[in-house]
Amino acid sequence: MSNWAERASASLLPLSRASTLGAALKEWTYTGRFFDLEAADGTCELCGQQELRYHFEIENDGTSASLLVGSECIKRFEIAGIDEQGRRLDARDTGKLVDRHRRGLVEDARKQRVMTALLKLGRKAPDFDAQNFIAFVDDKGAFTPNQVAMIFWRLGSAGVEYRPADWKVRLRRDSDIGQLRTMKPAAFKRVMAALTAAQRRRIDEIEARLAQYGQRWRE
Ligand SMILES: [Zn+2]
Repeated sequence: MSNWAERASASLLPLSRASTLGAALKEWTYTGRFFDLEAADGTCELCGQQELRYHFEIENDGTSASLLVGSECIKRFEIAGIDEQGRRLDARDTGKLVDRHRRGLVEDARKQRVMTALLKLGRKAPDFDAQNFIAFVDDKGAFTPNQVAMIFWRLGSAGVEYRPADWKVRLRRDSDIGQLRTMKPAAFKRVMAALTAAQRRRIDEIEARLAQYGQRWRE
């Protein structure tokens, strides 16, 4: 038996009716309930893995016992999820469901960090209208390049910590691209830190296309 299986047997069998791991696992389902611990200090109650940030709940249908585990364990041990009609899902669909729930948690945590940084800045700099920016990003889902350049500068000056990658930058409109092309070099550098790999590739493409016409991406 692998280490994973040994540890899972030790956690699971006392809480199950069956006496082998394979049979016991079939008694358990993923309940669809999940939790953000807000720090990577959780432990998987199935395999003992540490430093988990997110917990997913599994339940034994017969004994009503429940455990908080990592998303990887639900997939590794093929614990069945339940769809909206209460039907058991196969391993592939359960994996998709767990991944979707995990992505939702990661995204919520990202939005929370953005909101926290804006509110902190608002408290330190009374002229900064945090609520206005929160309303904007709530509505649009992303900031304009000029907004990000200004917010990062202000966060930096006020000593508020932030992760550039948490901030979504809108590059959909010509005006967004225009902002990037004309902003000051220091501001441009700050915004670049927030762009996704796909957005950077897009800028490379725009730059290459402009070069064909003898134009420069930025002066
Ligand atoms: Zn685990």
